[in-house]
Amino acid sequence: MFADCPVCKLHFEIEPGFYWGAMYVSYAISCAILIILGGATLILLNDPDFWVYMAIIIPAFILASPLTYRYARIMMLYWFSPIRFDAKMANK
Ligand SMILES: [Zn+2]
Repeated sequence: MFADCPVCKLHFEIEPGFYWGAMYVSYAISCAILIILGGATLILLNDPDFWVYMAIIIPAFILASPLTYRYARIMMLYWFSPIRFDAKMANK
């Protein structure tokens, strides 16, 4: 994540430790991935052995972690900061 926006130079870190809350958002996203993949494995593979669940869910967590990390920070910015998208700034 950039420290400052490359277009409008906005400094993204609202205050020190602002993104600690993103851990909770990331946790919620990870739980959603676990529930969806676990449910899909249960239904599509007709309740296989435990190791099959682990073989599907653990790599998915690892592969999704760069995305969950970034989206958790984006959601944190949108939900808990006064920063909003401004189309006039984006079209510079
Ligand atoms: Zn910007």
